[in-house]
Amino acid sequence: MKVRFWGVRGSIPTPLTINQIQGKISSIAQRLSPADLVSEESIEKFLAMLPPYLMGAVGGNTTCVEVRLNDDTIIIFDCGSGITDLAHALKKEDRYIRTYHIFFSHFHWDHIQGLPFFVPIAYDPKCTIHFYSPIRNFEDLLKNQMKVPYFPVTMDVMGADISYHVLTEPIIRIGSSEVMWKRVKHPGGCFNYKVRENGNTLIFATDTELTEQDFKKTKENVDFYEDVDAIILDSQYTLGEAIEKYDWGHSSYSMAVDFVNEWAIKNLYLFHHEPQYDDKKIYSILQSAKWYMNHLDPDHDKNIYLARENLEFDV
Ligand SMILES: [Zn+2]
Ligand SMILES: [Zn+2]
Repeated sequence: MKVRFWGVRGSIPTPLTINQIQGKISSIAQRLSPADLVSEESIEKFLAMLPPYLMGAVGGNTTCVEVRLNDDTIIIFDCGSGITDLAHALKKEDRYIRTYHIFFSHFHWDHIQGLPFFVPIAYDPKCTIHFYSPIRNFEDLLKNQMKVPYFPVTMDVMGADISYHVLTEPIIRIGSSEVMWKRVKHPGGCFNYKVRENGNTLIFATDTELTEQDFKKTKENVDFYEDVDAIILDSQYTLGEAIEKYDWGHSSYSMAVDFVNEWAIKNLYLFHHEPQYDDKKIYSILQSAKWYMNHLDPDHDKNIYLARENLEFDV
């Protein structure tokens, strides 16, 4: 399967501010020397040497992750603001796929606010959308967030063929994959999802406050967390904040590292970034997470990445 991030930010969409853009330009200008400007090649070389927090950006859209299975089935996790860019990209593809399987982790705004703007797909009568959640009345939850005066039209205006599937069985078959789910600690509850295709496994674990319970080798935990290749894991906080914000429903990057170490998950994608943090701070969290992993086990075989918009990877 191929995984692509369309929204990685927690809580609220977070565009780069004018000050942040000016700061990046100023830092880049200060690093320039006349020798860097002598040819196209030297400019390219200079740009390639810049740290990623200056040359790139983590992205400001809220949660949306696309999983493209080997048989071209499209699974989407959450409808944060990132889903609008996904919709535009889908429309431009040579082969416009018209069936979508959308799983909701929970219904906090940052995970549903893009749904009214899933354009044109949600409004296209030739498209089919399957929504999934273990919450019994989730159809009402979605419909109630999209009505006057909060939005000019209701979900009934969406022309796509929409169906709502309440997850009752622990495993559901979607295309060439199996999808499993597990309830985790978060205010009001949240669900992690696991996708397995051809023996390769990904966990999507947004808005998850890891607890001691998640480290125990219970049957439920072993069934869900063992033999996993990659995890997209909430790591919104620094360790200090995680202590200060106990019970707020998110994990620290150090807890995330402890977790992949405990369950031998090889690839960790730090996710649901704090909206207060700029790119430099988020990249420094990545460095700290890598340092901590080396400290825990100097011989480890783990890879730690930052989830950032447009990043694509194979599982
Ligand atoms: Zn969230
Ligand atoms: Zn939440």
